[in-house]
Amino acid sequence: MDYQAVLEEVAAYARPFVGRGHVADYIPALARVSPDRFGIAVADINGDVYGTGDWEVPFSVQSISKAFSLALVMAGSHGDDDIWQRVGREPSGTPFNSLVQLEWENGIPRNPFINAGALVVTDRLLTMTGDASTSMLEFLQTESGNQELAFDQAVAGSEADHGDRNAALAHFMASFGNLENPVPSVIEHYFWQCSIEMSCRDLSVAGGFLARHGLRADGSRLLEAREAKRINAVMLTCGTYDAAGEFAYRVGLPAKSGVGGGIVAVVPGRCTLCVWSPGLDARGNSVAGMAALDHFTTLTGWSIF
Ligand code: GLN
Repeated sequence: MDYQAVLEEVAAYARPFVGRGHVADYIPALARVSPDRFGIAVADINGDVYGTGDWEVPFSVQSISKAFSLALVMAGSHGDDDIWQRVGREPSGTPFNSLVQLEWENGIPRNPFINAGALVVTDRLLTMTGDASTSMLEFLQTESGNQELAFDQAVAGSEADHGDRNAALAHFMASFGNLENPVPSVIEHYFWQCSIEMSCRDLSVAGGFLARHGLRADGSRLLEAREAKRINAVMLTCGTYDAAGEFAYRVGLPAKSGVGGGIVAVVPGRCTLCVWSPGLDARGNSVAGMAALDHFTTLTGWSIF
């Protein structure tokens, strides 16, 4: 596969979609980003990386961090699956920050990739490590090979200043006994995790273990193959929130999106991709990013379907 040629063709296809949609502004610091950005990278299972456009420009990972926090909790749980007592693994069909299902499901979020579910995973990581945001940053530095990765303090602060919805989700779950740590501490670590800045290059490399069935590029094992399989499955069914059906229809890959405009997608056994363009559709997924991944699987035939 001539990855570079494929990426150039994908970027040309996606170009008319760049700038469409709306940059997330409910976190004011995210609204500073130009909607005209577009980058895409692919890291193959041998660790070779290709990219085009703004593929080396850092952006706010936002909810893409949710896939990595789940991986960290699974990696640290040594086969003990008890996180699944506290969070489900079914698509929600509701927006990523919705409260409604929590009431009729007794404070158990539908899946780990909506905000409520990610707060539970962050809570578990906090119990496991004592510092959920630093452990996530160090993990991403190691997996991406980029020690320069850092939090964006302005984004974390902005999210905390406008974090009533996430605080409400956390308090509501705490009322059902589904948080182990105090709410202010859980949401703070969650905001810091979301604020980490990474490029398409960094994210495609860091997500390589998902394409390698749990193995890192150097052959060491981060996750059991069955655990990597499960994360990919939940990414496929829940990683793009209430657009997971549409995403499977158009792209057909496990993926995790974030309101910074990034999407990480996995072709198991072959490669991990990351695309970034900040204009979002109504469900919070990158418009040009979806178009690019749609064209990628059409060109390569690598939809899992
Ligand atoms: N930090 C964002 C929030 O909690 C993440 C949402 C997202 O990327 N979908 O609202």
